[in-house]
Amino acid sequence: MVRNFTDTKRIVFKVGTSTLTYDNGKLNIRKIESLVRVLSDLRNSGMDIILVTSGAIGVGVAKIGRGERPKALPHKQAMAAIGQCELMYLYDKLFSEYHNTVAQILLTPDVVDNPIRKQNAQNTFETLMEYGVIPVVNENDTVSTEEVEFGDNDTLSAIVAKLIGADLLVILSDIDGLYDKNPKNNSDAKLIGEVYGVDDKIKALAGGAGTSRGTGGMITKLSAAEIANGAGIDMIITNGDEPTKIYDILEGKQVGTVFFASEER
Ligand code: ADP
Repeated sequence: MVRNFTDTKRIVFKVGTSTLTYDNGKLNIRKIESLVRVLSDLRNSGMDIILVTSGAIGVGVAKIGRGERPKALPHKQAMAAIGQCELMYLYDKLFSEYHNTVAQILLTPDVVDNPIRKQNAQNTFETLMEYGVIPVVNENDTVSTEEVEFGDNDTLSAIVAKLIGADLLVILSDIDGLYDKNPKNNSDAKLIGEVYGVDDKIKALAGGAGTSRGTGGMITKLSAAEIANGAGIDMIITNGDEPTKIYDILEGKQVGTVFFASEER
């Protein structure tokens, strides 16, 4: 049985590079438009919506017309700096079409380690949400390389969810959820609908990253589940291929894997 999430007030959505871009690295405008439309609709219904987005490097590479994703770290960081502007430009443009305003927040995962910085970040989020603005968060790739190196916006999204006291974290991926083995290499892999507590047995199910564009794979998503669940926040991994499925999730239909923070219903 899957819990109904319709009374959820504050949701963090994390979207990965493999959802935002085509195999050739260019933006998948159709998916992004669909995602923005659904998130705008949820915002209009009164929910607080926070979007944690990857994709800056891919967008930077596509923008500058280099074709191949660079390997050296300073080049990746430069691409991220170029792509971040373009990504925000696009979100700003698309959310504006639905009369929603976005704000860019660039963070490093250690923001929560320093009480003053943590408080400042919380204040900013709260004020933006008071204004009805949708914060769009990414890792600050110029000073931090976690995301560039490990694709770890998954962990960042859980840290953000905890920081702002979200009710739910939804990770949109290129895969339907957590399987009992990596489905990219095992055709008989089975989807796991519900997880109560990320233990070593669950962690052992995660293989490597599935695509060259998405880099975190399932391991960073399970770390995110640990952080979110530890803070009392439910987390869902679902496929970002059809963003309208988000409505099904909120209605409690079985879409993806739900990591429950507690067994109570
Ligand atoms: P994103 O860019 O959406 O974060 P990633 O490619 O980083 O996506 O992570 C998802 C990938 O993790 C899947 O495509 C899959 O190949 C891989 N993976 C490894 N183990 C598993 C598993 N047990 N269940 C599902 N996916 C897995």
